[in-house]
Amino acid sequence: MELGVIIPLYHFEEGFKKLQELGFTTCQLNSFDVSIMTEDMAKGVKEASKKYGIRVSALWCGWSGPHVWDFYEGPHTLGLVPLTYRETRIKELKKGSDFAKMLGVTDIVTHVGYLPEVPTTTEYHSLIYALKDLASYIKKNGQYFLFETGQETPITLKRVIEDVGTGNLGVNLDPANLILYGKANPVDALDVFGEYVRGVHGKDGLYPTDGHHLGKEVKLGEGKVNFPAFIKRLKEVGYDGPITIEREITGEQQTKDIIAAKELLEKLI
Ligand code: MG
Repeated sequence: MELGVIIPLYHFEEGFKKLQELGFTTCQLNSFDVSIMTEDMAKGVKEASKKYGIRVSALWCGWSGPHVWDFYEGPHTLGLVPLTYRETRIKELKKGSDFAKMLGVTDIVTHVGYLPEVPTTTEYHSLIYALKDLASYIKKNGQYFLFETGQETPITLKRVIEDVGTGNLGVNLDPANLILYGKANPVDALDVFGEYVRGVHGKDGLYPTDGHHLGKEVKLGEGKVNFPAFIKRLKEVGYDGPITIEREITGEQQTKDIIAAKELLEKLI
C-alpha cells in the first residue's frame, strides 16, 4: 500500500511540490468545479506529476449546486440523489471522466448522496437508471466509477453496485465517513463490500452525538477508526491500493496532522 494525500486540483503544482517534500508518492486530485478541467489543465497536471514524482490515483470529482453536509439538508442537496440537480451533475461527472482520461487516470470518485435504503421505490429505480447511464459512459472511457462512502449503509451501497451492474463500479472507502454519518463500523463494512474497494481515505472521526449533526472529523488516530484492525482487514480482503490521507482543516495544523497520519500509517501498512 502506498500513501498519498487528497489535494485540490486548482492548486496542483504547489500540492505536488508539497507532497514530494513530505515524502508521498500518490494523491487524489479534488475539484467541485469542472469548468477548470480543460486540456491545458490536464497538460499542466501531467507535467507536474512527472516533475514531482506524484502519481494521481483518482480524480475526486464534485459537482455544482448546494451541498450541505448534515442529516436534514444533505439528502436534498448531495450528489445524484436529488432530482433537481441530477441531470446537470451527471453532465459534470462525464466531463470529469473525460478530463481524467486526458490524465490517464482510471478512477473517478464522488459522493452519490443519500442512497435510498428501500429498493422497492421509484426513487431507488430512477437513481439506478441514472447511474447506469453515467457508469456506462465512464466505462467507455476505460475507467471505474467509485462511490465515496458515508451517506448510506454498506449493504445499500453493495445493492446499488449490484443493481447498476456495469462491471466498472467500486468503493472509495472513507472509514471516517461511515462513523461521522453513524452508518457503520468501517472494519465490519469490509465484510459487506470488501471486494469492491478500489480506493481508501486515511481519515478519522467520531460518531454523531445528536440527530441533527454529523460526527466530528478529527486527527487520524484520535477518532473511532481502529486503524490497526482496519489495515489488517484491508489486507485480508486483498486491498493493495493507496491510502489517501484527508484532513479537513487548513493551514499549518493540517500539514502537521498529515505528517502524523503518515507516521502512524507507515507502521501499519
Ligand atoms: Mg473522503
